[in-house]
Amino acid sequence: MFLFIPVENMASNNRLLVSAGEEVDIETLKAEAIAAGRPSSSTYNTRAEYRSRSASVAHYVLTRAKGICEACFQPAPFNRPDRTPYLEVHHTQRLADEGPDDIMHVTGICPNCHREAHFGPDTDAFRKRLEKFIAEKEGALDQETRADDHPAS
Ligand SMILES: [Zn+2]
Ligand SMILES: [Zn+2]
Repeated sequence: MFLFIPVENMASNNRLLVSAGEEVDIETLKAEAIAAGRPSSSTYNTRAEYRSRSASVAHYVLTRAKGICEACFQPAPFNRPDRTPYLEVHHTQRLADEGPDDIMHVTGICPNCHREAHFGPDTDAFRKRLEKFIAEKEGALDQETRADDHPAS
């Protein structure tokens, strides 16, 4: 059985970003996103399960981006009605029918870059550059976490 769900559209339509003043524990979001991205059995049991897993990955990725496009590093072009920055969720790897929704392969980018990712002159180079940046960013986040766990003082 195949479920076709337009994950990216769904993610950008839902209000996934936390409101500006809200305090976010990115590590909690990340743990949820990693758990959600892990392929379960051969397929997701229900559409609802798939949807909620994708939503938690998108939530983490948009929080990680902090309102700055992960491709061109410019601020989101505008805010949503709830004043959170508008970025779109883009997968650098084609999703298999059963996922996984790996946080290393999901990015938060501006609408312009998103079009370029799909329709630009060299989508392959664009993808590689984006994946390299995400790998570095995730590596830096992991180091910050370790530093938090073991304060130097
Ligand atoms: Zn951009
Ligand atoms: Zn995309």
